[in-house]
Parts: sequence; C-alpha cells; structure tokens
Amino acid sequence: MRHSLTIEKRAAVKEKRESLDFDIVFAGGGPANLASAIRLKQLITRHNEQNPSKTLDPTIAVVDKGRHAGAHLLSGAVFDTKALAELLPDFVDRDCPLDALVSRDKILFLTAKKSFAVPTVPEPFRNSGYPLVSLSRLGYWMAGEAENAGIELFTNTTAIKPIIENGSVCGLLTGDLGLDRFGNPKPDYLEGAELRAKVTVIGEGVAGTLATELQNDFSLCAQSAPQHYETGVKEVWKIAEGAIDAGEAWHTFGYPLPPETYGGGWLYALSPSEVSVGFVTAICPQAPEADPHKNLQLFKQHPSIAAILKGGSMLEYGAKAITSGGLDAIGRISGPGFLVTGESAGMLNMQRLKGIHLAMKSGMLAAETIFEALLRDDFSERTLQDYEERFRNSWAYDELHAARNFRQAFDKGLYQGLLQTGMQLKFPGLSLASTFLRKKKDHAARPHHATKQKNDSPPQFMTDGELTFSKEECLFRSGTMHEENQPCHLRINPAEMAEICLGRCREEHGNPCTRFCPANVYAFIKTPEPTLRISPSNCLHCKTCTLADPYGVITWTPPEGGGGPDYKLG
Ligand code: SF4
Repeated sequence: MRHSLTIEKRAAVKEKRESLDFDIVFAGGGPANLASAIRLKQLITRHNEQNPSKTLDPTIAVVDKGRHAGAHLLSGAVFDTKALAELLPDFVDRDCPLDALVSRDKILFLTAKKSFAVPTVPEPFRNSGYPLVSLSRLGYWMAGEAENAGIELFTNTTAIKPIIENGSVCGLLTGDLGLDRFGNPKPDYLEGAELRAKVTVIGEGVAGTLATELQNDFSLCAQSAPQHYETGVKEVWKIAEGAIDAGEAWHTFGYPLPPETYGGGWLYALSPSEVSVGFVTAICPQAPEADPHKNLQLFKQHPSIAAILKGGSMLEYGAKAITSGGLDAIGRISGPGFLVTGESAGMLNMQRLKGIHLAMKSGMLAAETIFEALLRDDFSERTLQDYEERFRNSWAYDELHAARNFRQAFDKGLYQGLLQTGMQLKFPGLSLASTFLRKKKDHAARPHHATKQKNDSPPQFMTDGELTFSKEECLFRSGTMHEENQPCHLRINPAEMAEICLGRCREEHGNPCTRFCPANVYAFIKTPEPTLRISPSNCLHCKTCTLADPYGVITWTPPEGGGGPDYKLG
C-alpha cells in the first residue's frame, strides 16, 4: 500500500520536527531510484538466502512529490529495455505496460509545407524492435514492483533539502504542510519531517532541488563541461484508426525552428488509435526567446503531422526539461553520504533521444554500491565513490561515450551539426579530436555554452481549438493542481522583481518567462500598475524557468506534496 508521510507518520507531530531513521532514503520516485531500490532489495534477498546466519535487513524508503507514483514522469518515449531486462528479466510476464514495438523508423527534414525523408536511417538513430512506452505508466508499474519487494514508498511528500552535518549528507527534510500564502500556519499545519539515512540517493530528475544544492555545496560539476538543456512538450492524442500504423516512430528536424536553434519533433504511434506527439526546443539563459509550447503547436500544423491528427482529440498534455550535455557534462555522482542517479546526474543520450535505460542502469549501479556498503557496514565517502568506478566500467558509460559529441556539434547550428555528426559517424576517430577541442573551449567559455536561441515563428500564430491549443487549454489536459492557499513556490525577490523583471528583463528580452513557460505561469500585466503576475497553481514542474531565466532571479522551490501534474500517459 502506498503511504503518505502526511497521514501515517506525522500524526503525532505537534511541536518538534519529527525525525525518522532509515538506512537508505531515495529522493525521487522515477525510473532511476525505483530501479535502484528494486535492485538493492534483490541483492539483499539473495544474500539473506545464502547467508541465513548473517542476514541484512535495512530500512529503505522512497520519497516522491507526486500525488501518485508516476504522476510527475513524462517522456516520449522509445524504451531501450536493456537495463530493465537485467533488473527484471521477466518484465513482460509481469505485465510491464508497453505499447507497440517500433516497426518503422523515419527521420524527416521539414520545411513549412514539405517533408523530406532521410533515405537511410543511420544505425545510432534506429529504434526498430524497441517498445514505445508512457514513462508515467512505467513508473507506476515499477513503484508497484518496488512495493511488492518491500520498499516503503511515500508519495505526496516533497524532499526540500538535504540534511548536511559535519560535511556529510545524512538524510533529507520533507516540506511543511498547511502554511497559508503568507507563510503562516493554518489549523492543519504539520511541520516537515527529518528522514535520516546512512545513504541518501538523489534521483529527482532534471534540475532537482537537492541535486542542485549538493552540486553547489560539494562542487560536483567543477571538472565537467557545462550542461545543456532542452524543454520537451508532449501531447498524447486519440486518432482515427488507419491514419498511421502502430509502431511507426518519426523524428523530425527543421520547421518550425530556424537553423541556429537546436531541437526537433517526434511522432510515435503507440497503438493503431493513439499517438505521442512532441517537440524538443533548446533553452538557455543567454538567449531565452524560445517558446516550446508554441513550437509544438506549429509542428502539429505541418501537413505531415496534421494529416495524422486530423479528426482526433488530445488526451493529455505535459512538459519537462531535459539534460542533453551528455557524458562530458556529467560531474561527480557521489559524495559523502550521497549518490546521484538518473537525470539528476545527466544520464541522457541525446543522440538516441533516450535516457530511461541509462537512468535505470545508474540506479542499479548505485544499488550495488550501497549493497557493498551494507555488507561492510562502511558508508564512508571512499566506499560510496565505488559508484563512480562502477559507472565507468558499465555499458551506460560506453554508450554515453560513443555519443559524447552529438549535442555539442549543434552549438553552431543545424547545418554544422549535421555535417559534424555525419563525419563522426563515418570516421569515429574524429570524436576524440572534437572532445579535446570542445573541452578546452567549454572551460574557457563557461557559462556561455548553449545554442543561440531564436524564435522566428509567425507572430500572428493563433490556435484553433481543434489541432492547436493555447497554454490554458492544454493545462486542462495535464491534471495539474496545487493547494491554492500556500506560499508561492516560484520565488522572485521583490527588489529583483522591480529592478530586473519590470526593468532590465522587460527592456532587453520582453519578459521571456511569459513565453518559455509551457504553462502560462508568468504574465505581464500593464494595468493598473505594471507587474509580473505569477500563477503557481498552473505549474507543471518542468523546471524550464530555472534553466532559461536570463538573470537567474526565479527560484523554483518544491510546493506542498501532491501538487503538480497528474500524468497518466506522460
Ligand atoms: Fe515549468 Fe512551472 Fe517554471 Fe512554468 S513555472 S517553466 S511550468 S517549472
């Protein structure tokens, strides 16, 4: 049964912050941490069977801010099952929720009206035989597997801060409940709890709150290349049967993006009557003019895509930022008392547009490290560092190494990126030279690293309510919801609001948050007084605003547990 710390564990809390002791705590209930928890339980079970006189029985908890497992998970997605097959070889018999197998790959270059298929899909871009999945459904299923294995899963619970004592992480704090919008306790106020642990595993996805704090406190990324980010916006549609064959997987580049902006679209036929359609747009604070939501709407208007969606209806909408810097942008993934897994560590292969399998593998490697620590009863930084070595010796590292120059090749635009990628595929030795030259440049140029952004889509773009939708209309299909009477979780200091948001940012960029946020959280209001209105209850927790804000004045903090999107097909 899924727990809520709010109900079952905090009932006794009145004045003193509650403190609960676990051996291992996982912050985030995505594929990385769920795979990790399952793997750890498997290793312990096998050990106990083989060593009945020296059994291990650690307490393990997974904390997730969604109102149910999978509620905040979203991806395309074509799923490479390599890691899952290692974790649960009988995943098909266990009713893992898989959609159609990819039967045909297509890569299309789009102009405004036409499409041109790449004649032969290069090997690294092929997906034939892999299943299509909803990550949210996969996460929900994995959570069930974890609970069946004896893991405690606390949904509706936000991890807001690592507990750091004597230079070492020893657990996390969960968020308060029942504060009003001014920060005053309401009658049902419950203070957040301390979850203390020997090892804390951080797998909160992209730009996680704890991961960001630990990166800063422990300089985890001091030696790595700057990270790159994109925002993916996705819709799932019910369509007329026969419009496309189940299992077709299309990837596109070109329209509606100008050549200097990195990104592209996808269309996956999940079944004969359901498709996932989405668009990825590069985001960065140096040139924040992107509008990922609008790019998806324009993409759907392209004749090749519109023909598939014609007469259909949108079932779900969502958005998520993506890390795409690849291997060179992965910093240290361990530290005193903690390990970092999945996209919190940057485990995503942008060349293959896949990260679920890498996230799962990183979690499994973390589990093996923790298991060794349990066996030795040694949770020192040195022991946890073995995770780094395990990662370097894994197929996940090899895969990321082979694709390490892909995303950065597009830093100077589409055509140079295509040329460089083509050359690297034909002459793999070139990758080494590219890495060397880029690393020198990246370190010299930090933080001005990402693709120049530009949004030259038609300014007169109007949604039609059938094929294309406004952000407000889309939000109805995301299920996003928050307790309204709570402190705003998107924080802008009042002085910076006046000086930056209503001054410099308005002049220099025209308040790009009003465009790059895919949920219309930010709106510039002219009267009676000019102000930037923030509607936090719309938030999809995609993290784009913290990554694309040109002045870094927006701080995303976790709202009350259970708030946010309610993805079921994400
Ligand atoms: Fe994403 Fe929420 Fe920020 Fe909007 S306010 S960009 S939905 S995280």
